[in-house]
Amino acid sequence: MNGWVAIAGLGPGDDRLVTPQVSDALARATDVIGYIPYVARIAPRDGLTLHPSDNRVELDRAGHALRLAQAGARVVVVSSGDPGVFAMASAVFEAIESGPPEWRNLDVRVLPGITAMLAAAARAGAPLGHDFCAINLSDNLKPWELIERRLRLAAQADFAMAFYNPRSKSRPDGFARALDILRHECADARPVLFARAVTTPDENLRIVPLTEARPEMADMRTMVIVGSSQTRVVGPWLYTPRSAG
Ligand code: SAH
Repeated sequence: MNGWVAIAGLGPGDDRLVTPQVSDALARATDVIGYIPYVARIAPRDGLTLHPSDNRVELDRAGHALRLAQAGARVVVVSSGDPGVFAMASAVFEAIESGPPEWRNLDVRVLPGITAMLAAAARAGAPLGHDFCAINLSDNLKPWELIERRLRLAAQADFAMAFYNPRSKSRPDGFARALDILRHECADARPVLFARAVTTPDENLRIVPLTEARPEMADMRTMVIVGSSQTRVVGPWLYTPRSAG
């Protein structure tokens, strides 16, 4: 039996946003590997082994998937949103790079999903309609100084900015510092979107001027989108015009 690894995105939460390609891979899988809450989204069935694991073991999880596939298993590694956005796809390629040479010949595919940034933007309107960037605000895997530098330069370049992992219990202060930097660099009342748990029953959207944005408006289930200088509110919607300058 020829094994394979599919690194799949489950989208932001609503099952209707799981692509048919991902559903097909899950239907053919013998094993599903991933962070506990993502594996919990997969319906158990005969012939399918679920391997939930803790968040901080990405490389172990990737190695586990590759070893199973080498032995003939059909493995789906699940991420939320898109697997290439601050998620498992890079971890699998890192494991391949540092693993045995045979792993480079395995059948490994990345199946895209709808990332939280795009789901949040769509619920609010079109805040990412012009140039934008995405920044992970967690300093688990990079120094905080790098985050600050990217924030300043992105603000100076007048990008709209989408922030993943804005704030967690283990990192309560970073987001407050990020907001201070943005207020300093932007010096206006541009709109900020706090989009929590989009496309799930817990969804909550809130738009406030940058001057009124507070750290406690975000948690680990929140996507924060800070507009460019052109981003504006029209009726209930938030959008960035197609032209700038
Ligand atoms: N691979 C994922 C991102 C993983 S990082 C993706 O492409 O979406 C996890 C962060 O994504 C969270 O801290 C939060 O900022 C964001 N996120 C994930 N799902 C979300 C949702 N349904 N609503 C709002 N933000 C979400």
